[in-house]
Amino acid sequence: MSELRKDPVTGRWVIISTGRQKRPSDFHLERTKIIREEHCPFCAGRESMTPPEVLAFRQNGHQPNGPGWDLRVVPNKFPALQVEGSLDREGEGLFDRMTGIGAHEVIIESPEHHKSLATMSEPEIERVLWAFRERVLDLKNDRRFRYIIVFKNHGAAAGATLEHSHSQLIALPIVPDFVREELDGAERHFSAKERCVFCDIIRQETASGRRIVHDNTDIVAVAPYASRFPFEVWLLPKHHGARFEDAPRQSYEGLARMLKWVLVRMNRALESPDYNLIIHSSPLQEDVNDFYHWHVELMPKLTRTAGFEWGTGFYINPTAPEEAAQVLREVRV
Ligand code: ZN
Ligand code: ZN
Repeated sequence: MSELRKDPVTGRWVIISTGRQKRPSDFHLERTKIIREEHCPFCAGRESMTPPEVLAFRQNGHQPNGPGWDLRVVPNKFPALQVEGSLDREGEGLFDRMTGIGAHEVIIESPEHHKSLATMSEPEIERVLWAFRERVLDLKNDRRFRYIIVFKNHGAAAGATLEHSHSQLIALPIVPDFVREELDGAERHFSAKERCVFCDIIRQETASGRRIVHDNTDIVAVAPYASRFPFEVWLLPKHHGARFEDAPRQSYEGLARMLKWVLVRMNRALESPDYNLIIHSSPLQEDVNDFYHWHVELMPKLTRTAGFEWGTGFYINPTAPEEAAQVLREVRV
């Protein structure tokens, strides 16, 4: 059983997850190990190697947990947090902890081992986004959860341990500090100016064009002004809304098209980098607010986070976002 512990100095929560017992030598192995096709539990025909599915898009007449699917969502076999149990909070002297209640699911994006978001068709990518939405809407009914983070680790450098294209979601009993920081910043801007900061970013960046990577009818891809990483890209929906799962259909269509556009060019320009993709959305059990604006952040792994970044929380980025945007705009595919 895992638990959440609060740092008594900063108030930051960590998950102590001991479900998968480790010996010190296991950590050495994990650095290099990535599960390839011959042992892949996510390929079609190996459904018995995963926990039973919680959602699947499959063709008519095919039984659950067997072949004939286009996309499956299954609980993570080694979850960071567990669904079962009650959310208990406890103090021990000055320390605070709570039981590690949450949900940890894996979205297997395709039955084919060698497909990736960049090589999928736009409707296939859109199907992945609809699966995210369906799972968030379902998990939201559980009042123990305060935040759901949907993310993708693509490649070993980004933290993936399986090669087969997949995303993950983790439902948490707290709102993480990073998210709270962003919400607070957006709220400050809104109370000073009565405008959404992300809508303001879209307006200003579109007018100048310098950091625009690409613009379609529904989504603007921008290299953010204060990019932390080289070729960091934000995908901002033009339709304002605080929550990913409440977005209109055309935002998903536009996002699928934009993801394809950006990933194909990133692969061409940067030799298929590993990357992290994260959906930023408003917390669950709070009223829908006017100030936040959901979006997607995409970070290719081109540099390492080292002592300076860990020690200060700020980043040295060797590539100006203006240059990154220009490079991606000019890629010929
Ligand atoms: Zn596979
Ligand atoms: Zn907005």
